[in-house]
Amino acid sequence: MTTDKNGTDGTSLPRGLAEAVSFAVSRGIVISQSKTARSGTDLTHAPFTYRPSPFNAACYHHAVDITIPLNHLVTRIARDVDYLRTVLDETGRADAEFTGRLLALLPESDSPSARPRIELSIARYDYFAHAMPEGPPMLRMVEMNCIAASFAALSTQMTALHRHLATHPGAPDLGVTDPGELPTNEGTSGLARGLWLAHREYLRLHPTAGSSTSVLMVVQPEERNAYDQFLLQDALWQFHGVRVVRASLTTIARSGSVDAENGQLWIVPDGEGELESVSISVVYFRAGYTPDDYFGDAEWEARSLLERSAAVKCPTIAMQLVGTKKVQQVLDKEKEVERFLSEPGDVEAIRETFAKQLSLSDSDGGAENARVGIEQCEDFVLKPQREGGGNNIYGEDVRRELERMSSEERAGYVLMERIRPVVVKNVVVRGGCTAETEMVSEFGTFGVHVECEGNVIDSFPAGTLLRSKAASQDDGGVAAGVAVLDSPMLVD
Ligand code: ADP
Ligand code: MG
Repeated sequence: MTTDKNGTDGTSLPRGLAEAVSFAVSRGIVISQSKTARSGTDLTHAPFTYRPSPFNAACYHHAVDITIPLNHLVTRIARDVDYLRTVLDETGRADAEFTGRLLALLPESDSPSARPRIELSIARYDYFAHAMPEGPPMLRMVEMNCIAASFAALSTQMTALHRHLATHPGAPDLGVTDPGELPTNEGTSGLARGLWLAHREYLRLHPTAGSSTSVLMVVQPEERNAYDQFLLQDALWQFHGVRVVRASLTTIARSGSVDAENGQLWIVPDGEGELESVSISVVYFRAGYTPDDYFGDAEWEARSLLERSAAVKCPTIAMQLVGTKKVQQVLDKEKEVERFLSEPGDVEAIRETFAKQLSLSDSDGGAENARVGIEQCEDFVLKPQREGGGNNIYGEDVRRELERMSSEERAGYVLMERIRPVVVKNVVVRGGCTAETEMVSEFGTFGVHVECEGNVIDSFPAGTLLRSKAASQDDGGVAAGVAVLDSPMLVD
């Protein structure tokens, strides 16, 4: 990594950097510098790449094209609570602290809540362009995020930033000859539309809910990435006139209630001066994906209260469980995707993106697969049932951990073939300083899916995310401080 001029004195900014940073800040590409800062204070621009990174056009289109089939896949698996219970049985026992507790909140398969009246999925499907020994790269899925998929709004702004720099005389050397190589990104409006459609369907089915009925965003008490959320809140209000209130699971535990007769959810939200209970149409989780969000039984009780209410849950417990690493490993087995999707072209296009995944459960070849992982530790990633980056195990540690673990503990993990992404050069802008770095880019497509009583209201791709990290880094996202925001420049 080479660091060139830094702009801390405000005078030595390379040409273009000042333009980039001021655009970023003015468009809300910002994060809090500390977890405890009061809203609106202590901000900095989110780290980003100065140039859009080249990304293979065929991989880009492949990923966008399978978004709707993946939306259907996620929703259909989530409806099959018996399937989830079976697939996750051993994993839930190995990871009793988290997967096990989520499983315990699944509805019974014959209860009305097993299939909610309104379903809203906001997912993000993540991929690498996997470098092939010869020829163009192939799209490989890293994971499906079925809860709290973030960065749609900041990523939308990132596309705007690179498009701006591509045409601005104050930002030379961007390497973009045709701004048309920078695809549009409708992330913010797409997610806002999904939340609005679910809200609208809720009001249609619950006409007595009242005009002040709001969307509830469940948030972490100390969220550094709140501005991605605020931009989405703002879009919901601006485009659709729907108010969003925010509350942590702890607040919900204290102030949430559900009407016995109709399941209406009420919350006194976080925020100064908020004393009144607000009726809720849609519960949109931007928290609850990690055990760290559940400080004790109170937060689990809050989650259970939300799940039992009539409000639309994005996601339900079942949808969240579809996003576990274990379910994704099982989907890699032959004929597994076919259980849920009937269109052979869709199945094929999805399966083509799968990297090999191996079970580590004793009932499913776990002991033999662990040996494969030990012998070929550089070729596999060991993944626990966790979200948010920084949890996976690589290289020699794969061997060490597999040798150390008991078979019960091992069942909490899956083994995934290591993807080798295409390496590109780019310039990282962080804290107003630049560093030229070799990077790999992870590409995500957001998918929004709304169903009401079995009728698909809409299902659509809703923007994209490109995050890049130093090629030498194994793991970690933007929130974990490893990756930076980027946008794709399509290349052959
Ligand atoms: P999380 O839920 O923590 O985001 P991921 O499956 O996305 O879990 O893994 C986190 C990071 O680890 C990814 O962003 C990617 O950089 C890296 N990673 C995950 N799976 C693989 C893989 N099969 N090959 C190479 N890198 C991977
Ligand atoms: Mg991830």
